[in-house]
Amino acid sequence: MVVVMLPRRLFSAFLQASRRLATSPTTDGGYPKTEGAWPDDRWRSFLLPSRAHFASNCNTVVASRLQERTLIAVKPDGVQRRLVGEIIQRFEQRGFKLVGMKLIKASEDLLREHYIDLKRKPFYPSLIQYMNSGPIVVMVWEGYNVVKTSRLMVGATDPAEALPGTIRGDFGMHISRNVIHASDSVEVADREIGLWFSSIEMTDWECCTQSNIYSG
Ligand code: UDP
Ligand code: MG
Repeated sequence: MVVVMLPRRLFSAFLQASRRLATSPTTDGGYPKTEGAWPDDRWRSFLLPSRAHFASNCNTVVASRLQERTLIAVKPDGVQRRLVGEIIQRFEQRGFKLVGMKLIKASEDLLREHYIDLKRKPFYPSLIQYMNSGPIVVMVWEGYNVVKTSRLMVGATDPAEALPGTIRGDFGMHISRNVIHASDSVEVADREIGLWFSSIEMTDWECCTQSNIYSG
């Protein structure tokens, strides 16, 4: 009997400990909560790392999401129309952090590579020519969900369809002169940042408002 009871007690204690350890922390690190009924949560407790494990990785998990980066470029029409300051202000006010910026006249080769996915589109040659027609301001912005949020801030590709309040909706003229570029996925952002910036051209810095912006 003792032989049967002992493993059951140990098993039960282990279950309770697992649930306690896997309780969600207060930070939103994408770590699921454990409320709910048996058996789902109990099994999830087994599958998830313990609180101790999470605690040691918490900063990494949360930081990797907070440190999402995207490539934003003010196109030649935006620079000519003196919209650089306005655009930077929108990203700053939204709470994102500028980690890289330069004003350059991009080479055709770089632009062709940047827009490689569009190379079969009829507008590709004119797009490259236009992007090469004058200086552009290329930036890397960092923050939670910055890729998705910046696409919303930028608005639809065609300014005629972009909502008022978006950058293209407020300043865009025509689909071929739509003021700004923003990476459209995290994978694309990684590729584009690697294309336009070397690591020494970007600066990691501590933002003193970090806790005001992100702590819940
Ligand atoms: N573009 C264009 N004509 C079109 C569609 C796109 O000149 O019919 C240009 C426009 O400048 C756009 C860029 O090509 O921003 C890249 O197109 P994409 O579909 O990736 O749009 P985005 O991601 O910039 O909204
Ligand atoms: Mg695109």
